[in-house]
Amino acid sequence: MARIAVVTGGSRGIGEAISLALQKAGATVVANYAGNDEKARAFTERTGIAARKWDVGDHQACIDNCAAIAAEFGPIDIVVNNAGITRDGTLARMSYDDWHDVMRVNLGGCFNMAKACFPGMVERGWGRIVNIGSINGQAGQYGQVNYAAAKSGIHGFTKALAQEGAKKGVTVNAIAPGYIDTDMVAAVPAPVLEKIVAKIPVGRLGQAEEIARGVAFLCSENAGFVTGSTMSINGGQHMY
Ligand code: NDP
Repeated sequence: MARIAVVTGGSRGIGEAISLALQKAGATVVANYAGNDEKARAFTERTGIAARKWDVGDHQACIDNCAAIAAEFGPIDIVVNNAGITRDGTLARMSYDDWHDVMRVNLGGCFNMAKACFPGMVERGWGRIVNIGSINGQAGQYGQVNYAAAKSGIHGFTKALAQEGAKKGVTVNAIAPGYIDTDMVAAVPAPVLEKIVAKIPVGRLGQAEEIARGVAFLCSENAGFVTGSTMSINGGQHMY
């Protein structure tokens, strides 16, 4: 029977590529999104993948929507916490709301989705959770104390939850993408982006599919011995 997978922020950007990679691997995929109905509708028409709108920063919305997805499609076996936002600015310019929004969605979303799906995975003895971190959570980034803290938190969250799932057949891993050619990166001013690309040893931005292939591996049967790890997919920009 096909695994049931939920990809948050799964209707565009890296999330769309992840949804497609999991579909290709045989899973029944449901893509979550926040508000861009037009993109979500076009995505569903193009791919046949169902899209469901809710805010992953809303705890109860995650619980309710995951229960509805399980009732409609079957128990959720795979969760990819990909939804993420930026509210960049130096500390001096960053408002409390900029801080809080990013923590609430990027890190809070992982907690909320795990609360909704991890217990069922443990009960059934199989599960995969993949959290999308960031190179900027590993290395830090000027003007991103909120984003870097949330993404860095994802890496700690991953290692802690992996320990709870390890004996129960549930793996929890993270992927830390480098700079990937999506709407999020298109928002970076061109001169800044040029400087960023100059620092990538591979000499280019990554493609969303390059992240998606890593996610598909971590969600596969073959990856049962991989847990608590962070896979860096960044063109060699940050090695450690
Ligand atoms: P995009 O901005 O292109 O897409 C973000 C997706 O997340 C959209 O589907 C959006 O929905 C959804 N989303 C945003 N907020 C919420 C929310 N509160 N609840 C539910 N869904 C939400 O992002 P990318 O594809 O570039 O990034 C995907 C992930 O990868 C993020 O976590 C990002 O931090 C991370 N990442 C990206 C890098 C890059 O270079 N692009 C580098 C490193 C990490 P909607 O369409 O409705 O707005």
